[in-house]
Parts: sequence; structure tokens; C-alpha cells
Amino acid sequence: MSVKVGVIGVGYLGQHHARIYSEMEDVELVAIADIDEYRAGIFAESFGCNAYSDFREILPLVDALSIVTPTTTHYNVAIECLRAEKDILIEKPITDNIKEADELIAESEKNGCILQVGHLERYNPAFIKGSELIIKPEFIETERLSPFLGRGIDVDVTLDLMIHDADIVLSIMNQAVIRDIRAIGTKVVTDKIDVAKAWIEFENGSVAVLKTNRFSQQKKRMLTAYQKNSCISIDFQNNEVHHYRKTDNGLYSDNIKLDNIEPLREELIDFIYCVKERKRPKVSAVEARNALQMVLYITEIIKKREG
Ligand code: NAD
Repeated sequence: MSVKVGVIGVGYLGQHHARIYSEMEDVELVAIADIDEYRAGIFAESFGCNAYSDFREILPLVDALSIVTPTTTHYNVAIECLRAEKDILIEKPITDNIKEADELIAESEKNGCILQVGHLERYNPAFIKGSELIIKPEFIETERLSPFLGRGIDVDVTLDLMIHDADIVLSIMNQAVIRDIRAIGTKVVTDKIDVAKAWIEFENGSVAVLKTNRFSQQKKRMLTAYQKNSCISIDFQNNEVHHYRKTDNGLYSDNIKLDNIEPLREELIDFIYCVKERKRPKVSAVEARNALQMVLYITEIIKKREG
């Protein structure tokens, strides 16, 4: 039986959720809701479903929903969906504060609803391949640079972009305990933090350095992990993994080019699978909460330094 889904918020990213659902065989895209009636209408027509301006109206019509509204609205929208006992995929970050993230987790558990969070990079084929090669990293560095697009500026860049790398690093480190965090950053083009760098030291001695900036000349999404006798670079943007390694016979360098699959499609396929089979999502709300907690702490350090 097909799963009836709705998409709330069809801006830059939500339109792609709607498109992919409309193409999936075991899914019926029933409705789109957006406070911008024009956008809702355009995409509903393109993808053959009904348009609504108030998301509450679509709750009785669907089994599951993607919530793709600005971060600061996630809690208000998601809590009503969960109270209506709907399974939800909420875009990253889960919310902009821990209290609301905890309330969403509690409500989903109370009602037995799936609460998946859109940490898309976990479905990136370069990350899936590259992370298999990372066994015991001593040092990880990430760079996530973006030209200024004027999107996601309802929150600091730590919550908008660094959150991706926070979740990835925590997943590579198996959610290991953090010993210390240091950070620096500042506002540049918005009234929020636009550039940030953080140093995260784990109890096992490993260190991760996360660097992000949302007004860069170039777009870059890289992670490099160094471990004894090898170094793995994951290029999220170009779907490539570089593997340098030392063996008894010398030094080797492999460049692994991955298939050009759409990570968002993989994420939505996984969501529908979890809805049908009642499985725990790959990126559950608890992991999303851990990543949020880390970037909120980084944000706090930066704001304290700024005074
Ligand atoms: P956007 O501003 O382009 O789109 C948001 C849409 O939500 C707009 O059309 C707006 O009218 C609508 N909206 C706002 N409040 C609403 C409400 N209460 N009910 C219904 N519709 C409402 O934003 P975006 O760039 O698409 O980002 C949306 C979310 O997706 C953010 O949380 C962002 O962090 C996340 N995002 C994730 C990734 C990723 O890689 N996973 C990439 C981009 C954005």
C-alpha cells in the first residue's frame, strides 16, 4: 500500500522533497502546504497534488510529512504534526534549541511516531564509501564554504552549515565523549555569526577541526581524516574519495569516483522505508540533538568572545 505524504514548505529545498516523492512508486504525494500560496500552487500543479496555505489542513490527509520550513519554525510545525500522530522528516537542524528538540523527541516517543532529521550528507555516496576507510582517526578536518545566498540566515552559520559536519564527525567518532571545545567566529554580512571555526577534542585524544563560512568565493564541502598510515579525503560536492596509504611496498594514492546519485532521494527512500517498516532512522532525532548541542555550545563560545 502506498504511503500518503505531504510537504510543508516548498522553498529552495522543499520543492525537491515534493519532486522526489511525486516520482516514488510506493508513495502518493497528496498535498503541499506553504504560507506562500503562490509557491504552494505552482509546485502542487507541477507535481499533481493539492495546495494549502495552512499546514494544519493537510494533517488529516497524510500518513507522513517532510517539514522543510525555516529552522526557527521547525518546532511549531513539527509539534502539531506529532500531536496529530504523523511520522515526520524534519530538515536539519532539528530545531534551534535543545528544549524544543527534547520536546519533539518526547512527543514522537509518546505517540510512536518516526522522527527523522534531514542530515543529508549521511546519504552522500562519497561519505558512505569514505567513512568505511576511516578506522581510528587521530585528526579530522572539515571545510564547508558557501557563497552568500541569503538563505538559512534566520540562524547562525554554526546551525545552518557547521551542523552537517558536527553530525558527520560525531557519527565517525561513534558519538564519543567530548573533552574540550574551543571556537572562534564572527558576524560579517548578517546580524548572526557568518564564519566559524571550532576545535573539538574527544576523550580518546582524537581532534576534529571544523571550519565554515557562508560568504566564500568558492563552494567547498570537504572532510579529511588522518590516521596511522593513511589519510582519507571526502569531497561531498564532487562525489570523490581520495585515499592515501602507506604499505610495506610503498605509498599509494587512490582516487575513487562514486556514482552520481541524489543523496536527497536516498534520504527520502530511507524515510519511507522507516515509515513502512517502523524502523529507527539512520539519523534519528537523538543524533540530531547531539549535533545541535555541539554547535549550540560552539555558538555560545563564539558569542562570549564577541562580548
Ligand atoms: P526557504 O526559505 O527557501 O523555504 C522555506 C519555505 O517555507 C518558504 O517557501 C516559506 O514560505 C515556507 N514557510 C515558512 N513558514 C512556513 C509555515 N509555517 N508553514 C508552511 N510553510 C512555511 O528555505 P530552504 O533553504 O528551503 O530551507 C528550509 C529548511 O531546509 C531549513 O531548515 C534549512 O536548514 C534546511 N536545508 C537543509 C539543507 C540540507 O542540505 N539538508 C539544504 C538547504 C536547506
